[in-house]
Amino acid sequence: MAVTDTLLAYVNGDYVPRDQACVPLTDRGLLFGDSVYEVIPAYGGRPFRVTHHLDRLDRSLAAIRMHNPLARDAWGAMFDHLTAQLPGQDQSVYLQVTRGDYPVRRQAIPAQVKPNVFAFNALLPQRSPAVAERGIAAITLDDIRWHRCDIKATTLLANVLARAQATEEGADEAILVRDGQVLEGTASNLFIVSNGLLITPPDSPELLPGVTRDLVLELARDGGIPYAQAAIGVAELDSADEIWVTSSTREVTAVVTLNGRPVGNGSPGELWRRMDALFQACKERLRLGGDCHDD
Ligand code: PLP
Repeated sequence: MAVTDTLLAYVNGDYVPRDQACVPLTDRGLLFGDSVYEVIPAYGGRPFRVTHHLDRLDRSLAAIRMHNPLARDAWGAMFDHLTAQLPGQDQSVYLQVTRGDYPVRRQAIPAQVKPNVFAFNALLPQRSPAVAERGIAAITLDDIRWHRCDIKATTLLANVLARAQATEEGADEAILVRDGQVLEGTASNLFIVSNGLLITPPDSPELLPGVTRDLVLELARDGGIPYAQAAIGVAELDSADEIWVTSSTREVTAVVTLNGRPVGNGSPGELWRRMDALFQACKERLRLGGDCHDD
């Protein structure tokens, strides 16, 4: 039996076996993708940068004209309850807030509708040092997503299709390009290193402000690594000395081939090595009960 089979999920205030957790057929999250989500890693069972994730959840909800249905301490109690099922383990908590269930299928937002809130946790696979050292392959693709990618919405079909194309082409991630500007990956933010400068595209409605990206910027600031938030064109990406993607599940991962050509010398670069060490040290401090640039 898989570990997940025995875990309870949270659904609207109750903890129920995962395989019995459900929302109604007419939930607007299912019918229209009318919902937002977060994925929060918990290292050693301790949720990571919770305030950052819940702040972003508030921004996503406000952007889709919803209020957060739960208070901060209720979210905190839920995370504690879920993560206690895998004590001391590295795991992730997925949460989703949908507009709610409404019996009539109509796009207009109903005046009276109660959000559905659900969440579940799962083990985070341990990162193998060999895989981290090897880096990943990426391709570039046209960004066909909408113009509010700063909202962490569950409408991810364009991301799913881009990722499928990456897989077909033997790559692990697709880096999305709009109007000649490189924005982010299908499920990750993007950094390049160019002449010793670490660069990530600036906040805009075209990309998700990643919690991991913010941490990388904080670690760069504290570590004296020169960095900038600036637009990145396709030519700059092609000639970058290093390319990284970041996310709550990928952490800081080096891209070693882009569209089949090596990035730099084709292996993770020196600055990646430095940033990864800072990031891993941060995780370890959290695991040991300390603080990791949190909140
Ligand atoms: N950009 C997109 C489109 C994502 O889906 C994600 C994460 O899922 C990220 C960036 C990285 O965000 P975070 O670091 O908060 O996980």
